[in-house]
Amino acid sequence: MGRRTIITGVPGVGKTTVIDGALKKLEEEGITYQSINFGSFMFDVASHEGKVKDRDQIRKLDRNVQKELQRMAAKAIAAIAGNVIIDTHCSIRTTKGFLPGLPEWVLTELKPDMLILVETDEDQILQRRLKDPTRIRDMEGGKSIGEHQQFNRMIAGAIATQTGCMVKFVKNQDFLLDQAIQDMTESLR
Ligand code: AMP
Ligand code: MG
Repeated sequence: MGRRTIITGVPGVGKTTVIDGALKKLEEEGITYQSINFGSFMFDVASHEGKVKDRDQIRKLDRNVQKELQRMAAKAIAAIAGNVIIDTHCSIRTTKGFLPGLPEWVLTELKPDMLILVETDEDQILQRRLKDPTRIRDMEGGKSIGEHQQFNRMIAGAIATQTGCMVKFVKNQDFLLDQAIQDMTESLR
């Protein structure tokens, strides 16, 4: 049975960058993980059905549609064997409130043994979002980003209690990407 690690963090915190760095280091040590982006599974189905044109439109769909896409993604990802990293979210900010990214039925499918939260100061996240031209990020102030991170910590506690998974916080601070990569590598080793 492979290891299943869920990696979360608010949009723009740099999850994907830290994951890529850690996987490269582990590869050099002969440890392989398959990196899976939960949103990409949802996007493939939603775009095939003509519901969205880009991945930032998913969180704007009707919540029942989002949940159905989520259920399908969880089932597909659960079928993947070996060491798996799942790049996703504890909660998704929508105009109608937070949508849980890892509700009970998703966790039952994924059976994680570790949950990693990538975090940093909200001001740094705000700056990173403003500088990223590849995504259509929602307009949000630093304080609101801070509250979202706080909420995600509460969810992490609930997930750990529910599933028995380990929880690890990885700081991805400005100018300290190497440290974040090192930290994540150690957890995945
Ligand atoms: P990302 O590239 O990680 O920002 O994911 C793109 C989009 O996929 C997000 O904005 C969400 O709308 C959706 N998404 C990703 N993971 C989940 C999840 N676990 N549950 C619901 N929606 C998700
Ligand atoms: Mg990403």
